[in-house]
Amino acid sequence: MDLVDPFGRTIRDLRISVTDRCNFRCTYCMPEEGMTWLPRSEVLTFEEFERLARIFVERFEVDGLRLTGGEPTVRAHLPVLVRKLAALRVPASSSSPLAGRKPDLSITTNGATFRLMAHELHEAGIDRVNISLDTLRADRFLSMTRRDELTRVLDGIEAAKEAGLAPVKINAVVQRGVNDDEIVDLARYGRDHDVEMRFIEFMPLDASGHWMNDQVVSQDEIVAAISAVFPLEPVPARGSAPADRWRYLDGGGLVGVIPTVTKPFCGDCDRVRLTAEGQFRTCLFATTEFCFRTLMRDGASDDDIAVEIQRAVGTKWAGHQINQVTFIRPNRSMSQIGG
Ligand code: SAM
Ligand code: SF4
Repeated sequence: MDLVDPFGRTIRDLRISVTDRCNFRCTYCMPEEGMTWLPRSEVLTFEEFERLARIFVERFEVDGLRLTGGEPTVRAHLPVLVRKLAALRVPASSSSPLAGRKPDLSITTNGATFRLMAHELHEAGIDRVNISLDTLRADRFLSMTRRDELTRVLDGIEAAKEAGLAPVKINAVVQRGVNDDEIVDLARYGRDHDVEMRFIEFMPLDASGHWMNDQVVSQDEIVAAISAVFPLEPVPARGSAPADRWRYLDGGGLVGVIPTVTKPFCGDCDRVRLTAEGQFRTCLFATTEFCFRTLMRDGASDDDIAVEIQRAVGTKWAGHQINQVTFIRPNRSMSQIGG
């Protein structure tokens, strides 16, 4: 049975934050110190994640699961969870191209320990990966992430390719005056290394609360900067994917931009999210959450949970209002939600 929201959008994609913890401290996401981590008892167990994922996949025909965080790779024994999720089956009766098969399993990671994990994660069932990389300069990498890990992240990207994860996409958050002078260098990196660069507009989800509209480098600016050096043509039909994509006219592959702030794509959004402690969110910017952890730990049946999922999806709004005076910042930052 499809899970359809009040605006007629069918939910197909569940983002699961497996931990709120992280081995980096990216300035646009976390403070240097002072994050309060969830007590372990509040974080969902693998069995709880699997149970919820099963309801989404097997009852509601959700055919894409993405693991994120915090940093998903810092959660111990992650491949065990991946194997559980890979054993789920999209109903054979579903209209999904994955009907009768396992859901599409992906992960978003900072890549720092990916050399150690890529192969095992792929064997466990992860199909594809997005790795974050905002700069190619070691000094800037240190100031942006507060960790001296550029070399290991670049190696993690190579490890992902060697392990057979495909496609490997690279996420770069662009901030004016911070790394916007590297847009072309990052695009060149994507071309040279046969990975798809995806530039992300800076969103008001930084823990410090310092986000300002003038720090956002717009999709139009990003595309203009790249196409001045490497001419581009648009790839039609984004569908429900968050990135608009362009093709290099010389055959150098694809590049994407996620224009959350300047060109919201809420009308096509098919995503919902589960935080590490089992709060269900129908939008990255939602201000309301539904506590599935309490529900499960209080003994709710799968039917009860399915009803609650439908009730929650019934509240999904038409879209965020970042550029309007009515916008209310969620009281959680990106790492606490699961980006
Ligand atoms: N730790 C993993 C990583 O960094 O890839 C996964 C979680 S992270 C929260 C997911 C994505 O959100 C990353 O690509 C990160 O760059 C992005 N992100 C974090 N804070 C952001 C912000 N304020 N605006 C836009 N993107 C942000
Ligand atoms: Fe950690 Fe990812 Fe946030 Fe950076 S963006 S601090 S790697 S969760």
